[in-house]
Amino acid sequence: PIYFDNHATTQVDPRVVEVMLPTLAEIYGNPSSVGHVFGEAAKELVEQAQQTIASRVGAEAGEIVFTSGATESNNLAIAGVLNQRRRRGDHVVTLTTEHKAVLDPLEQFEQRGYRVTRLSPKQADDPMAGLIDVDQVREAIGPETALVSVMLANNEIGVIQPIAEIGRLCKEQGVLFHCDATQAVGKIPVDVQALRVDLMSFSAHKVYGPKGVGGLYVRKKDPRVRLQPSIFGGGQQRGLRSGTLNVTGIVGLAEAVRLGVAEMESENARIAQLRSQLWAGLQERISGVHLNGPPLDDPRVRLAGNLNFAVEKVDGEALMMNVREIAVSSGSACTSANPQPSHVLRGLGLSEDLTRSSLRFGIGRFNTADQVEIAIEVVANAVAKLRKLIA
Ligand code: PMP
Repeated sequence: PIYFDNHATTQVDPRVVEVMLPTLAEIYGNPSSVGHVFGEAAKELVEQAQQTIASRVGAEAGEIVFTSGATESNNLAIAGVLNQRRRRGDHVVTLTTEHKAVLDPLEQFEQRGYRVTRLSPKQADDPMAGLIDVDQVREAIGPETALVSVMLANNEIGVIQPIAEIGRLCKEQGVLFHCDATQAVGKIPVDVQALRVDLMSFSAHKVYGPKGVGGLYVRKKDPRVRLQPSIFGGGQQRGLRSGTLNVTGIVGLAEAVRLGVAEMESENARIAQLRSQLWAGLQERISGVHLNGPPLDDPRVRLAGNLNFAVEKVDGEALMMNVREIAVSSGSACTSANPQPSHVLRGLGLSEDLTRSSLRFGIGRFNTADQVEIAIEVVANAVAKLRKLIA
């Protein structure tokens, strides 16, 4: 099968593997063991990685905390703020279309008495479907609001939210702002100053790095940004996240981000071209296909590699079963650990049927035009076959 599921995860780039290998059997010291050269060499790698990542997102090295991935980063940001003694109240603002790694921790806090406002983005019948209206965020923020959490790029429909505007708003109102940038770092320009985020999550395995490692940007200069740690122990990373550092993963994360940023412009142009080819081919071959999410032709509102569409008059599960020569993901339950139809598509007001018969492509670095032609063929044939069955 051909891999088109690059929002779920990505193949590790061989150039990333290359820089990770020496950390396994050669530079294997514990970066906290500063009494000898083994530890010092590892510590230097970690510091270099911090510097590499920080400089690619407009941060300072000391503002990058390494975690096991964006799920942990989101949890650390949310719990870190909400468990900390705060000047403001117990209210949080987020979107219905956030990742579960934001929504579920917030639900835990809600059960403990915190108040969570979940804003709906523009609905499926709006040309800018998926985008949040900044005025809605403005209206939702009150004197009790402790935290706003909005993602930069959505993992299902690729929508890019107006984070800089929301960041400015949060700054004006004195509210802490967390941004899940997991699908954005290394794919689109990200600058924590321009975006005015206080906390920002990212992950290696979405950008051709290894699984199980990610980071959280924590704004240092602002004394209001103090986090309660979630993991306690040896006091690594200024006590914010104890545990021996994952040197191999961290080195891989940094190289993945470095390559992503260096090649972003040309890669996005190439990938957007592949997506145009895919969408044109699908529309030509299949009747009743509907784009989910914002327009494809505006790179400011949608990731280059994302295509998400609903197919009328087919059963979603049957469709997935019949496109097994390509690896894509579905709006129905069968591809995820979560047995519910996509909460993001449902959050756009899409019917349960159209949600279930939706397919998500994440076109990535290793995809080619020939593969796209095959994908068009596979999906078109599957739809034709299924429609013939019910006709
Ligand atoms: N946030 C977003 C937007 C994501 O796409 C993902 C991965 N599906 C996560 C968080 C979780 O990241 P990780 O797998 O690194 O925990």
